[in-house]
Amino acid sequence: MDKVIVITGGSRGIGAATAVLAAQQGYRICINYLADDAAAHEVLAQVRALGAQAIAVRADVSDEEEIVRLFIEVDEQLGPVTALVNNAGTVGLKSRVDELSELRIMHTLKTNVLGPILCAKHAVLRMSPRYGGQGGNIVNVSSVASRLGSPGEYVDYAASKGAVDTFTLGLSKELAGEGIRVNAVRPGYIFTDFHALSGDPGRVSKLEPIIPMGRGGRPEEVAEAIIWLLSDKASYTTGTFLDLGGGR
Ligand code: NAP
Repeated sequence: MDKVIVITGGSRGIGAATAVLAAQQGYRICINYLADDAAAHEVLAQVRALGAQAIAVRADVSDEEEIVRLFIEVDEQLGPVTALVNNAGTVGLKSRVDELSELRIMHTLKTNVLGPILCAKHAVLRMSPRYGGQGGNIVNVSSVASRLGSPGEYVDYAASKGAVDTFTLGLSKELAGEGIRVNAVRPGYIFTDFHALSGDPGRVSKLEPIIPMGRGGRPEEVAEAIIWLLSDKASYTTGTFLDLGGGR
């Protein structure tokens, strides 16, 4: 089967590392991103240099019309999606719950929960034999925050990842008989630009002393787990959570 992967938020961090590994595994690749054209095109050049057929598509995953356009572009340029990595995510500034605005909570939930559910919907419309598809794979990028709760920092974010976990469980059972596996990775503190969004770009280095392994994780270490879950080597996994928290 041709391997066509859509990586949401593929222009930076964990998504970009996943795109590079996917290129080495023979996938045709769609790098989705929200705004940073230059970063997306840098990753595009990197995966093309590895011999992959690839496109970069700017689309906001919190908006279904943009998701529809994203998957149509993939259909037309790469063929129907066989692997979806629901990786795009956001977090707000470090705050207690009594300081959160409705707008900020909605932004977090729309990007981190609505986005993955709608992207999965449009992937399933192409993967499921009900619609003429041949099966496929979905990996959701959750967080160890889903089981730790992130008190005093961003409980709204942690709750959004809790929703991703429950969505992973439910969808995996819904699709298990249709040749579609659905799994999740739960990273801990990973060195990416994500932490600047919470107002603390140096967060991972500062927190290294409280990580049992004594160090933050690299995006490539998370990408390895994602690519393994997508591969036939993980053929009997579905509804599985792979934690990459260095012991947290
Ligand atoms: P990152 O470096 O901040 O990259 C985020 C990516 O998502 C960028 O490509 C960004 O595009 C894209 N994006 C954001 N909102 C989007 C939207 N509405 N539509 C489409 N694309 C969007 O983040 P990361 O650290 O690699 O995190 C990736 C995932 O891992 C997230 O789900 C995050 O919650 C999860 N995670 C990260 C850590 C960590 O320590 N880094 C820990 C646990 C879980 P632009 O650059 O164009 O805006």
